[in-house]
Amino acid sequence: LEKGEFPDIDSTKLKIELTKNPKKKPEPDAMKFGINFTDHMLEVDWIKDQGFSAPRILPYHNFQMDPATMVLHYSVEGFEGMKAYKDKNKNVRLFRPEQNMKRFLNTAKRLALPDFNPDELLKCLEKLVLIDADWIPEKEDFSLYIRPTIIGTTPALGLRTPTSMKIYVILSPVGPYFSAFKPLKLWAEDEYCRAWVGGTGNAKLGGNYGPTLLPGMKALEKGCEQILWLYGPEKKITEVGAMNLFGFWKNKDGEDELITASLDDGLILPGITRDSILTLARGWGEFKVSEKDWNIEELMEAVKENRMYEMFGAGTAAIVSPINVINFHGQEYKIPLDPDDPNSGAGKITKRIKKEIIGIQYGEIEHPWSVIL
Ligand code: PMP
Repeated sequence: LEKGEFPDIDSTKLKIELTKNPKKKPEPDAMKFGINFTDHMLEVDWIKDQGFSAPRILPYHNFQMDPATMVLHYSVEGFEGMKAYKDKNKNVRLFRPEQNMKRFLNTAKRLALPDFNPDELLKCLEKLVLIDADWIPEKEDFSLYIRPTIIGTTPALGLRTPTSMKIYVILSPVGPYFSAFKPLKLWAEDEYCRAWVGGTGNAKLGGNYGPTLLPGMKALEKGCEQILWLYGPEKKITEVGAMNLFGFWKNKDGEDELITASLDDGLILPGITRDSILTLARGWGEFKVSEKDWNIEELMEAVKENRMYEMFGAGTAAIVSPINVINFHGQEYKIPLDPDDPNSGAGKITKRIKKEIIGIQYGEIEHPWSVIL
């Protein structure tokens, strides 16, 4: 869409109104994922032929909207998930935030929403995080979850490109997503699918997530916490729940290989954790690292031949989540954890990746991915 001569997001125009009624902060033990919100939020509006309003940081508040508002009917909604961390010197840090902004812009484009300047949005977001920095728990594995959101706000039932939208950012202090390394049982799902070629799997749209709840519930009834999403007649291995999926195995050629699905056919959300893991593992230079198609047959064969070393999900919320069982058509396939330390609940590579990424995120390891605000 043409931006024309209308104003883009401009962080120098940011208006700030601080709350007069600060909320009581939750104790770390009560920080279940995404239920507590900080004192402030960021908002910026766009109107066709007018451009973007000045961005505003305001006390956290409800929205009032017309019941016909487009987001409520046609899911014209996209979002991001990122985190702020406090290091031991009380610096506030973000992890590769420009990557989240880039993906957010791609999502907006997929929704036929207008372009915006992601760097300017990031500057406003950083200011918000600093204003609510007291909410960032100073405890290992705790952080401030950041949820940028974009919604079509045109109040009309006719399905057409929105003539107005809102970008907003809310913050939620969080503890560890899964309790320390509890390995997951996966239901290998070949009836429902999360994404398809030509669909929206590679964008972070709300519409991708709601429909996964029913298959998720059915998987739970069968004793599996998460879904392994298979795709197509070849039952390609794509993602796990709302995480990217990695396997570490000895492939058919006898090579040790870290494998994850490629982004080529648009089924996979390009995870920032995924990209970070690929970059780190390639940097180690100890084994082959591949982004390519693999399928459930190959996985089952590797398990039977004891060639699967470990598997894990990867995403911002948990960083890595070990997997120890895959149930396919009622048959359980056991995935090893660390044979030298079975009580650790995770495989060797899974643990090493978590340690390294946490080290970078909390500033224990100096790395350009960790940005001090
Ligand atoms: N896949 C899906 C479907 C997701 O929702 C997420 C979480 N954003 C991921 C993968 C992991 O992405 P990231 O590492 O950027 O959090």
